[in-house]
Amino acid sequence: MSAQRVAVVTGTRAEFGLLTPVMRAIEGHGALELRVIAAGMHLVGEQPTVREVQERFDVHTTVPMQRSGETGRVADGHALARGIDVFADVLGDADCVLVLGDRIEAFAAASAASVIGVPVVHLHGGDVAEGVADEAMRHAITKLAHLHLPATPTSAQRIERMGEASWRVECVGSPAADVVRTTPELDERRWAELGAPEAVVLHHPTGLDADREQAFAKAIADSIEPGRTLWLAPNHDPGHECVMGVRQASGARLIDHLPSSVFTGLLKRLAREGGVLIGNSSCALIEGAIIGLGAVDIGPRQGGRERCGNVLEVEAPAVSGIRSAIERLRSRSLGAIVHPYGDGHTGQRIAEALARIEFSDPKWLRKRTAY
Ligand code: UDP
Repeated sequence: MSAQRVAVVTGTRAEFGLLTPVMRAIEGHGALELRVIAAGMHLVGEQPTVREVQERFDVHTTVPMQRSGETGRVADGHALARGIDVFADVLGDADCVLVLGDRIEAFAAASAASVIGVPVVHLHGGDVAEGVADEAMRHAITKLAHLHLPATPTSAQRIERMGEASWRVECVGSPAADVVRTTPELDERRWAELGAPEAVVLHHPTGLDADREQAFAKAIADSIEPGRTLWLAPNHDPGHECVMGVRQASGARLIDHLPSSVFTGLLKRLAREGGVLIGNSSCALIEGAIIGLGAVDIGPRQGGRERCGNVLEVEAPAVSGIRSAIERLRSRSLGAIVHPYGDGHTGQRIAEALARIEFSDPKWLRKRTAY
């Protein structure tokens, strides 16, 4: 059998870090050929993150979707349509297409592939987290996908309860555990350059009205010690400007984005120094649990996601609630946290699963609800 061509779609920095160990394992497997497709958010902005992808992999194709300066839900709708249109042209010669998570780039690729008859492999399906449109996108991708490689046993069960046949589902763990296992903690120099922070804020818009969006960001700004806080930029989801405005005025050290390895090294160091991660990023609940980093999860964005002993939730935009959560986490010794994300060898497990499967067998494309 010739090597199976696996098209891996990355659309944002949020999944590129997680996909990296998976892409490396596919690249290193003799029975597989890696095709990297950089899409969507990677291609917009003054410093497009596609450069980070190109530094590490040969990018086979790019799929432009969003346009600079056009934000909001309607703009996202048009970006999605552009993506489906281009993916229908570029995925035809792949043996399978692999996507992770719930963003519109993954949904565009999965929709096009499923219609043109290319099997879809989905990582991190079956999770629950509200996001803006993320929850609907994630479960819709599950119904479009032909092979499910979820991160946790709970997510695997959820996929089966959505009517997917059990032979299509294999729990592989989260590639976030691979990233944490293989990334060293920041050294003294790099840690000092980032201000040796007590807190890191990573807070994204949640698709709420502007007042609520602003209230959450403001409550964070009023809870932190600005001189000891590093505040990263929010993603470009609708509501982005509200969070950006408050962040700009907060007095915290501002860095838009850190390369994945620096970001993970920072979280590891932050954990050892007894610091906290604040906001509503998935990495508070996933990487935070794997590392044992105290995290304050604010508002509804991660609503429903599995959580471990490292996380305290604050539902309302209240300064007192956030401050008290930060204090409780600082006074706790977290140690090793029991988490469901696997042993840090997910990339290898995925490559082996893909190499084992003959996607040309028609059973993969013929889908039927299992009950
Ligand atoms: N991340 C990164 N650099 C940063 C901030 C985040 O590489 O400066 C990555 C990191 O790998 C983490 C992921 O982005 O796993 C988290 O994604 P994000 O908070 O952007 O979005 P979410 O998953 O909550 O949608």
